[in-house]
Amino acid sequence: MLSQTITWQDELKTALRSNEELEAFFETSFAKTDYPIFIPTQLASRIKQRGIDSALAKQFLPHADENNKGGMLDPIGDHAYSPTKQIVHRYHNRLLFFPTSVCPVQCRYCFRKNELHHNDELFKPDFEGVRTYLSAHPEVDEVIFSGGDPLMLSNEKLEKCFDEFSKLKVPMLRLHTRMPVIMPSRLDQDFVALIKKAATQFELITIVIHLNHVDEITDEFKTVMKELRLLPIQWLSQSVLLKGVNDNVMTLKDLFLGLVKMGIKPYYLHHPDQVRGGMHFWLDIEDGRKLFAALRNYIPGHALPEYVIDIPGGHGKTPLLNPEGFEFNGQLLNKHGELVSYFLN
Ligand SMILES: *Cc1c(COP(=O)(O)O)cnc(C)c1O
Ligand code: SF4
Repeated sequence: MLSQTITWQDELKTALRSNEELEAFFETSFAKTDYPIFIPTQLASRIKQRGIDSALAKQFLPHADENNKGGMLDPIGDHAYSPTKQIVHRYHNRLLFFPTSVCPVQCRYCFRKNELHHNDELFKPDFEGVRTYLSAHPEVDEVIFSGGDPLMLSNEKLEKCFDEFSKLKVPMLRLHTRMPVIMPSRLDQDFVALIKKAATQFELITIVIHLNHVDEITDEFKTVMKELRLLPIQWLSQSVLLKGVNDNVMTLKDLFLGLVKMGIKPYYLHHPDQVRGGMHFWLDIEDGRKLFAALRNYIPGHALPEYVIDIPGGHGKTPLLNPEGFEFNGQLLNKHGELVSYFLN
């Protein structure tokens, strides 16, 4: 493990939170946008090293294009599938659970960027509703912690959540998080102990790390993962294909090969969602398909994620590489095998 000079909680407290703080730190000016700013200082230093035109910078620094009014507020249609607070249940056997709406960083491309607010209370336990819902839905065998970022919760609060789901006899638990790359120090010894305990409460624990570029794989992250990959759990990753950030074959190759070498299996590559304020990261489906097809030549199948797209309106994810060709006719098959439109107008 790392010898820490600054705890992750302190790193959060000292994060850059305003245009003024950003401008003082980067010694340049930034566009004003409607979206909050939140960049932990160690990440800010890394961005500064790489330069403000780098892939790292584009993901986290505000940009005038965020003020464009195209795109949707709820691009994947989560609201229609939320039966109770803190739950989105779209697929038969698994559901998303949102213990918090805060994150360790404000990603400018985020598909929930019009819904998340950094001043929300950190932990909003509503286990009554969750318990009632799960009791009525025994078909749910996996609870996926999403958010916000579930690792924004303290280890104690996470343990409470895990105990609740263990009592409800949910066999599988999953965490979707960006924390390990933003603040590797979050994966401290208490977290290791927590996961070891959880591994005895559930049949399968999965941690899915969100990262988009090989520059996010720092020496610190690698060092932490050397120990954590030995835990009796499954490590996966998910990435978003982002115009100007990672939309080329060699960048994706370096990312996915970097991950498998660390014991993290690339799971999903998401086509970007048509989210308001993030449309400058969106790219044509044809371009994504060509990129993804070319990747096969450079990385083995075990390092290749599934390339998926979320169909607006809540139709869910579907694979995007269509074997007949790159051309996109504007329609996709949803989980019921129905053809539905991707573009809403
Ligand atoms: C993406 C998603 C999941 C997880 O899907 P997997 O294919 O199991 O990774 C679950 N619920 C919702 C609502 C989702 O959007
Ligand atoms: S960590 Fe995830 S939910 Fe949070 S801002 Fe980034 S993409 Fe959005």
